[in-house]
Amino acid sequence: MTINRRDVLIGAGTAAAGLAVSGCATDATPGTATPNNWQLTTDVIVIGSGAAGLPAAIVAREAGLSVIVVEAQNHIGGHAITSGGNVPLGGGHSIQKKWGVQDSPDLVFQDLTDWSVVEPNGFPDYRYNDREIIRAFADHNVATCEFLIAHGVVFVDKAPDAQGGWSVGNSVPRELHCAPMDWPLVQTGQPAEPSQRATTSSGNGLMHPLAAAARKAGVDILLNHRMTAIHRQGAAGAVIGITANNNGKPVNIRARRAVIIATGGATGNVNFRRMFDPRLTEEYCGIAGMPWSDQDASGEIAGMAVGASLWGLYNQSGEFGSHITKPGTIGNQYGYANLRWSPGSEVFDLARAIGLRVANWQDVITVNMLGKRFYDETGRQFSANNYNSIDPYIPNSYLNARNIKYDPNNYLNAAMAGIGDGHNGGGPIWAIFDQDAVMREKWDPTPPNVDIDAGFFFSANTLGELAQRIQMKYQRVPMPPENLEATVARYNSFVDSGKDEDFDKPKPLYKIATPPFYAAWATPVLHDTRAGLRINAKCQVMDMNGAVIAGLYCAGESAGGFSMHGLARATCQGFIAGTNAATEPQRG
Ligand SMILES: Cc1cc2nc3c(=O)[nH]c(=O)nc-3n(C[C@H](O)[C@H](O)[C@H](O)COP(=O)(O)OP(=O)(O)OC[C@H]3O[C@@H](n4cnc5c(N)ncnc54)[C@H](O)[C@@H]3O)c2cc1C
Repeated sequence: MTINRRDVLIGAGTAAAGLAVSGCATDATPGTATPNNWQLTTDVIVIGSGAAGLPAAIVAREAGLSVIVVEAQNHIGGHAITSGGNVPLGGGHSIQKKWGVQDSPDLVFQDLTDWSVVEPNGFPDYRYNDREIIRAFADHNVATCEFLIAHGVVFVDKAPDAQGGWSVGNSVPRELHCAPMDWPLVQTGQPAEPSQRATTSSGNGLMHPLAAAARKAGVDILLNHRMTAIHRQGAAGAVIGITANNNGKPVNIRARRAVIIATGGATGNVNFRRMFDPRLTEEYCGIAGMPWSDQDASGEIAGMAVGASLWGLYNQSGEFGSHITKPGTIGNQYGYANLRWSPGSEVFDLARAIGLRVANWQDVITVNMLGKRFYDETGRQFSANNYNSIDPYIPNSYLNARNIKYDPNNYLNAAMAGIGDGHNGGGPIWAIFDQDAVMREKWDPTPPNVDIDAGFFFSANTLGELAQRIQMKYQRVPMPPENLEATVARYNSFVDSGKDEDFDKPKPLYKIATPPFYAAWATPVLHDTRAGLRINAKCQVMDMNGAVIAGLYCAGESAGGFSMHGLARATCQGFIAGTNAATEPQRG
C-alpha cells in the first residue's frame, strides 16, 4: 500500500493494525535531524502498547484526539500481558469501598514516601521517591481503577489483599487481581481452565480488554513499528513526531500535539542497565517478560537524545524486591519464577524451553563457572514491603527499621560476585543435580522442558564429563572437572555430617551421587526497571535544566522517580499522561 499526500493526515480509526507504509522517509539521526516528509500524521503518538501505553492511548482518544500507538512487536501487551496481573491501586476506589477497606489518596502518598520503611536487607523502599510524582500517582489511583473497570478489566471478586505485590505500601490492602476470563493466555495460546478464569490473576486479563477497548475507541495500533527516533523542533522546541522502523523501512509519523513514551524500561539493554550496576553484563539474558517483548531502553535513549534528563537513579541500583531475582525454573534461558512459556505460545520458538520448576532447592547445588558453590541454595530472592510485612507498622517512625528482622539474603550478590578474574559479571550459575533429584522433583529433563541446543542444559554420566560438556557463549572459562568433583564430594560430606560448613545451608538433605548428572542454567533473572526519564506530575518529560520538553510525555517503567513494582504505576501514569497530552495545543 502506498500512502500519498492526501493520506498522511489520517484520522483515528483509519489506519489498520500492521499498516504497510512506503515512501522515501528520512532515516533521521535521533534529535539532530527533522524528517522533511511525514508519512502519517496524528494528534498523539503513543510508543508502546503495554500497561502504560494503552491507557494513555484510550484516554487521549476518548478526549477526541486521533491517536496512533506504535508497537515494536507484532503483538500488543508488553511485559504487562505476561505479568501476574496483580494491580496495587488504592486511594478509596469502588472495590475497596465494597470490601470495607478504608483508604485515601493521602494514605497512598504517605505510604509511598515513608522514609522509615526498610526491607529485610536494610534497603529503604520509598525514601528516594519523588514527592511530586507520588502525589500525582496517589491522586489518580481511584480514577485509574475506575477507568480499568469501565474499559473491560474484570477484577477477581474478592477483597483487595497483599498477594503478588512488591513495594506497594504498608497501611492497607490494595492488591487487585485481573481475571483472565475467556481471553487466550499468551503463555500457552489457550484460555485458562474454566474453573480459574474468574478466580486467578493474569496480565492477560488486563491487556486483552484494554487492547479491545483501544481498538473500539478508534486508536490505531501499528504493530511491528519500532520507534527509532523522536523529533523535536530545533534544540529547544516542541516534540513534533517520531520515526519508526517497519520491517526495515523508516516511517515518519508527525504528532500534532504530543508523543508519549511508554516503552517499558531498560532491563534488556546491557549498556544502559550497566550505568546503574556494572555487574549486569551479557550473561543476565533471562529477562522476565522476554521474549514476548524487550525492554531495550529505546524510549529513554530517544528521549535523552532530544534533551531529556534521567531521574531517581538510586531506585534502580538499590536492592529492592524484584530488580534481580533468583530463577524459579532452571535449564532454560527465561527462568523467571512466575512466567512459563508452553509450546502453544506464539513466542515459544524464541523461548525454546519450558524450564524445570524447582520445588525444593535442597535438590540441587548451585555452582559458578569454576564449579564452586558460593551460597546457601535455599536463599531466596529479595523481599519487599507490602501491607502487614512490617508489624507493627508505625508510619514515619524509625522504629520500623527496628521491627524488621534483618536478613541480608545475599544469594544474588554472591551469584554475581564472579570468579575473581577481573570481569564485572558473575558469569553463568549452574544448578547441579543427579538422577535421584530428578525423581524427587518429578522432572522430565528432556526438550521441550530443557534447552539443550542453545547450551542451557547439559548431562553426563560422570561429574568430570559434565564439567567438560558445559560450553556455551557465556561460560568464558572452562569448568575444571576436578573442581566440580571436589565441590560435590565436599557437599556430600555435609549431607553425612548434617552441617554445611561453607554456607550454612540448613541441614543439607541429599547427596549428588546417582548418574546421570545434570547441569541446568540457573543464572539470576532481571525484572524491574525503577529509574528512567525525569517527569513532572503531569508525566511531562523534563530536561537537564528542569524545564518541560513541550509535547513529550513518559509513563511506566521508562519514567524515573518512583520505586514501586509494576502495573499500578504504569497504568496510572499512562492515565495521567493521556489526560494531559489531550490538553496540548495543536502545533503546525
Ligand atoms: C513475568 C512478569 C510478571 C509481572 N507481574 C506483575 C504483577 O503481578 N503486578 C505488577 O504490578 N507488575 C507485574 N509485573 C511488572 C509489570 O508487568 C510492568 O511493570 C509493566 O508492564 C510496565 O508497563 P510499561 O507500559 O512500562 O511496559 P510494558 O508493559 O513492558 O510495555 C512496553 C511496550 O513498549 C514496546 N516497545 C518498547 N520499545 C519500543 C519501541 N522502540 N517502539 C515501539 N514499541 C516499543 C514493548 O514492545 C512493549 O509492548 C510483571 C512483569 C513480568 C515480566
